[in-house]
Amino acid sequence: MTDIDTLIANTIREDVRAGHIYNVPDASGYIKLDAMENPYELPDPLRQELATRLAEAVLNRYPVASYATLKQKICDKLGVPNGYDVILGNGSDEIISIIATATARQDKRAVLMAPSPAFVMFQRSAQFAGMDYVGVPLKADFSLDRAAMLAAIEQHKPAVVFLAYPNNPTGNLYDEDDMIAIIEALGETGIAVVDEAYQPFARTSFMDRLPQYPNLMVMRTLSKLGLAGIRLGYLAAAPALLAQFDKVRPPYNVNVLTQVAAEFALDHVAVLDEQAAKLNEARGELAAALAALPGVTVFPSSANFITLRVPDAERTCAKLFAERVLIKNLSKMHVLLANCIRVTVSTPEENSVFLNALKASL
Ligand code: PMP
Repeated sequence: MTDIDTLIANTIREDVRAGHIYNVPDASGYIKLDAMENPYELPDPLRQELATRLAEAVLNRYPVASYATLKQKICDKLGVPNGYDVILGNGSDEIISIIATATARQDKRAVLMAPSPAFVMFQRSAQFAGMDYVGVPLKADFSLDRAAMLAAIEQHKPAVVFLAYPNNPTGNLYDEDDMIAIIEALGETGIAVVDEAYQPFARTSFMDRLPQYPNLMVMRTLSKLGLAGIRLGYLAAAPALLAQFDKVRPPYNVNVLTQVAAEFALDHVAVLDEQAAKLNEARGELAAALAALPGVTVFPSSANFITLRVPDAERTCAKLFAERVLIKNLSKMHVLLANCIRVTVSTPEENSVFLNALKASL
């Protein structure tokens, strides 16, 4: 009989064996403010219409491999400049992994770089693709350390630099001139990926700059806009560059149901934009209420979440958990995030449950 531990030791990579799964806590019975989801559903009449479309979807065939209709709709409705194209991913998580797979060279260890703290999938995807990951610390106010980034680019010659704009987990937009200095410094030696997962809330973008910088790619997702369940991300760039990434994309990676739901949602994108505007308003109100609390520091956010420092993040998270509110404790993630927590902006009712439980924890 095969001993399973021996089998694992003989087959599975050492770093994978030593690693851990991407942890997603079970949220049943909790107010879920840990994952930057939009709390609003599509309005009922739209849900009914979508149900009809989904019922008509052809499920016995593979998806149309080119995804031409959905791609065209994304380009038309989401501001991709003329002459530029997109590839699609099963969430932008998959796109990050595609980018790492295509840039992890076999002749040398390639470097994937990002400011730090950043979205954890940058590091995980780099690791799994066999790249070296370099995180360049942000300044204490979470702005880019331009000099440090430029020095790190000079030293490590990264194949890819990810810049989340706004950044997760800090919520802020980086200074545009700092970003441009980085994109220009990479030039012909590295690709800059501006990750605009939170663009629906920030309402500012690097998409229009694609024609200016051939080494720029803009990555986005429908997740935060209100479609986290369908898993659709996209990467916009010059067609010649995208074609390289398309080679490592798994075939049929976006399923038929996602395709139908995404096309439908894009036809009604104004509804989602209104929800985002409502959440932006709620963000302002919640940030003001939080800033008024003694001992609490609120960091500026252009996303649908707020990052704040509390006197004791462990205590606050435990209290919130006891009140059945899930948020993210960022304390252990990075020295800059000591006693920081991150909360998704939600409905007025959920925001007030959070606020009250937080007050009780202080
Ligand atoms: N980029 C950033 C900055 C994120 O915060 C997230 C989600 N937390 C993602 C990408 C991934 O989003 P998705 O896979 O849902 O498209």
